[in-house]
Amino acid sequence: MPKKFKPFHTPIYVTRPLLPDLNNVTEKLDEIWKSQWLTNNGPQHELLEKELLGALKVPYLSLFNNGTIALIVACQSLRLSGEVITTPFTFPATPHVLTWNNIKPIFCDIDPITMNIDANRIETLITPQTTAILAVHVFGTPCDTIKIQEVADRYGLRVIYDAAHAFGVEIEGTGIGTFGDISMFSFHATKLFHTAEGGALTFNSRELKSRVDLLKNFGIKNEEEVVMPGINGKMNEIQAALGLVVLKDIDEERRKRKVLYDTYKECLKNVEGVTCLDNDKPGIKNSYQYFVVRIDERAFGRSRDTVYDEMKKYNIFTRKYFYPLCSDYPCYRYLPSSETANLQIAYKAAGEVLSLPFYGGLSENDIEKICGIIQHIQKNA
Ligand SMILES: *Cc1c(COP(=O)(O)O)cnc(C)c1O
Repeated sequence: MPKKFKPFHTPIYVTRPLLPDLNNVTEKLDEIWKSQWLTNNGPQHELLEKELLGALKVPYLSLFNNGTIALIVACQSLRLSGEVITTPFTFPATPHVLTWNNIKPIFCDIDPITMNIDANRIETLITPQTTAILAVHVFGTPCDTIKIQEVADRYGLRVIYDAAHAFGVEIEGTGIGTFGDISMFSFHATKLFHTAEGGALTFNSRELKSRVDLLKNFGIKNEEEVVMPGINGKMNEIQAALGLVVLKDIDEERRKRKVLYDTYKECLKNVEGVTCLDNDKPGIKNSYQYFVVRIDERAFGRSRDTVYDEMKKYNIFTRKYFYPLCSDYPCYRYLPSSETANLQIAYKAAGEVLSLPFYGGLSENDIEKICGIIQHIQKNA
């Protein structure tokens, strides 16, 4: 092994949570202690809601204890039932929220480039039971929102976006959370913006916001009226306070990640068989949440799995996002829409993608070394 490619001294993970200066968090905790208000729309919660309206450029927003509960409530608020068309190339939460709503997920193949739901195939999957489309802006790449809305309008379907990867993404200056009926953002520790655990729904309709706010608080309207069967989806004051502090560091983190993004692209541009997913496109504001490559085994000479395994020997821990496909889980495998023949492009993507280490704490040197190791694996594994 050439000296240049000694393993990293400390493990390099795919991400690290953005941890703000602890003093700033303590200061916030002091405020909370003085207020003696820990949850239920306290001052931190109200402030974070307001600040996120601006950061996400959306008209209405409702905070949640996590993104998955938010998405479950989104389905409830639109009274979805029957079947919902979604993508198999996503995190388990996406199809699971349908199951928790007694809805059958119908898996649709994906676009070979964006790896988002293929809007041109949605129509073939619509039945009299279909009530909505649940699309995911995978790795922050915007879905074909125009085409999806067109299909939805033609068939009277609702549209929900899982925007867990798309914090701050904009199309021509428009917040990604304004498309469809509802969008869900996750504020889990591994996401760019986080509240340790947390999430939000965004909408264009004030009526929907009121309904969602009732649903996330047991359906309690006032001290004497409970008007619907709600759940507990509330974000507490400590989560909201952490979010307010983290939010201040987001622009700086994005600037750092942009440099690393460009370094990755530069170092990998001439590596045969490695394609970078590039979201630095004109008119699109990038979330910089992930750095994802695809490894074409034939052109690269080694499989994605080989690269994943070999990288561990250098103390680099990448992720096979998203493998396996959701349609391959034991709970969904039996569905007719899960048949391999219907999901050829998704299968190919699931076999090729690799999420590389990406967070502001890495240096350009680290990225160059990681890319050098990838090339070393290509020649020597
Ligand atoms: C993180 C994530 C979720 C779940 O969000 P939580 O806040 O962890 O519940 C849902 N969908 C996608 C695509 C995600 O990446």
